[in-house]
Amino acid sequence: MEPLHARYPFLGESRAAVEEAGVDLAALVTEGGPPVERAVERVEYALEEGSVGDTHRRPRVELLSYPVARVLVSLVDEHVLTRKYARAEARTAHERFTADFATETELRSTADTSLTRAELLAEFDLTGSVRAVGGEYRVSVGTYLQLAADQRDDEWRLVNRELRDGEVPLEEGELDVLLEAAVRARVTEGLPLSVPEPIAEELSGPVEYLEELLADLDFTRDIDTVVPELFPPCMRALLDRVQKGEHLEHHSRFAIASFLTSIGMSTDDIVDLFEVNPGFGEEATRYQVNHIRGQTSPTEYSPPSCATMQSYGDCVNMDDRCETIAHPMAYYEDALDDADEEEVTDWREERD
Ligand code: SF4
Repeated sequence: MEPLHARYPFLGESRAAVEEAGVDLAALVTEGGPPVERAVERVEYALEEGSVGDTHRRPRVELLSYPVARVLVSLVDEHVLTRKYARAEARTAHERFTADFATETELRSTADTSLTRAELLAEFDLTGSVRAVGGEYRVSVGTYLQLAADQRDDEWRLVNRELRDGEVPLEEGELDVLLEAAVRARVTEGLPLSVPEPIAEELSGPVEYLEELLADLDFTRDIDTVVPELFPPCMRALLDRVQKGEHLEHHSRFAIASFLTSIGMSTDDIVDLFEVNPGFGEEATRYQVNHIRGQTSPTEYSPPSCATMQSYGDCVNMDDRCETIAHPMAYYEDALDDADEEEVTDWREERD
């Protein structure tokens, strides 16, 4: 187990190094200790910081923590966690490989802890579909479409790129972004793993801890960002109806008002957003919003889950993201995470 394997645990040779060392995963988790602790830390950092934290000083611990972290993510088995975890592993890898590429010599990377761009391309079978031309790269269009599929910015859309003889020209930094996408796909591959019962039992404590952490993040995290274009389809539809002056049943008014409260809108903001409604009852709205927020009642209400929305007929226009979540708040958090921060404008800023 080399330091290179510890820095890039998703590589085929890293996995082979674990296999060659004859490590038994069941024995490893039963024993507990540093590899399991570092695995929990990996996932914890992924949730809270979007990275996997600092490497452990012992390469063996660092490398073994990776398969254990994948098992933990599989046991929690929540789409939001899997996505955040894969993204954090990929982001950390991106930081490391871009630093390695910067110190790369023409012959070989500077030490056996480093990776060259050519090695990373070979790892993902991209050698034949990516070629260097002058100071830039050309990527075959099929590979480009596959790797750029998750990029949200318009600049990545094929219609906005140059296309030369079936290849897309890319700058070095852009190619590295696509390599990060390849790492993300590699980390996600096979998740959730099917985990044998004895291993699941040994890890029940850490799994419970991570589930709690995730629940806290999902619903107590202060989102405080109002981007109506990213609202879940159900909330966009309800807001649309309010703004058209349609009468909403109590459960529907409750759903949209509690959702807007939960994403950080003040009562005045909500009144402002609703006020385009010609049949708008400002006092009634204020009363309901203050009640939901717990100002005039003993309880602070959360918006209803997807199951409740469905039972009231408020779940409409479901899209692909809806298949991956169980709560409109999780939908919105996911959509915000995926959006490019610079392209997201808070409705309150636009209004002011
Ligand atoms: S699945 Fe959930 S988030 Fe999507 S539209 Fe239905 S209620 Fe809204």
